Amino acid sequence: MNDLQVVMLASGSKGNAALISSSRQRFLVDIGISCRELTKRMKEISVSPEELDGVFITHEHIDHVRGLETFLKKYQVPVYSSMHTWRAILGKYTAMERKNCRLIEGGLLCGDMRIESFAIPHDAADPHGYSFTSQASGAKCTYLTDAGFITDTIREAVAGSDTLVLEANHDVEMLKNGPYPQVLKQRILSTRGHLSNNTAGMFLASLAKLPEHVVLAHLSEKNNLPQLAQDTVENILADKKRLEETQLFVADQHKLVADSPLTLDLGF
Ligand SMILES: [Zn+2]
Ligand SMILES: [Zn+2]
Repeated sequence: MNDLQVVMLASGSKGNAALISSSRQRFLVDIGISCRELTKRMKEISVSPEELDGVFITHEHIDHVRGLETFLKKYQVPVYSSMHTWRAILGKYTAMERKNCRLIEGGLLCGDMRIESFAIPHDAADPHGYSFTSQASGAKCTYLTDAGFITDTIREAVAGSDTLVLEANHDVEMLKNGPYPQVLKQRILSTRGHLSNNTAGMFLASLAKLPEHVVLAHLSEKNNLPQLAQDTVENILADKKRLEETQLFVADQHKLVADSPLTLDLGF
């Protein structure tokens, strides 16, 4: 049974934060919006930051850590990331409160949840994605954004996921013909850049078992459109006659998107 819920609080180049909950625990991936905005969006679903069991940071880019410094100052919640990501963050924000900064190397058990981190190719110090597996139900949710391409490590991490948050950053044609300077276009298209709609779709189609829920995430505001991302992925899956195997959602920069009804009584 998939008893995990994902609520994308914000997703896109202007800031990312996702809430991943089981019936017993709540975790956040990234704090890329201001702490005030984070608190406001969590309040919409009646969750306060004090109730979080942990925060996991993917990498040090501003759209993933914008609200982190204030969060660490205000709340007593452990925040996990890799050693080199912490070095990059603390090197930049030298006054950051450090007492709740924790390391995750590989995996850890936090209450009922097993969290595994996995390396992703991106132009940051030591970027990671995360998989959350409920020990009680076996349900697994994987979070993967900011990846230049799909590695074997990513394939292994995603295998068996019931829910997948998957980057669909850009439409390649929109990016190529769009307003970004050439050097930025090249960075995004590189093997340390971002996943395109097409790559996301092809990756899904190549999975032995499709996740029950797929949330397309980190859409570029300039180089993508929500409908285009959804259509591209749906068309690829339809071509392979696999569209029925999954339910697609598209995350949004400005509003909450959840993979199950927000009014759902989670039993807290
Ligand atoms: Zn990034
Ligand atoms: Zn990003």
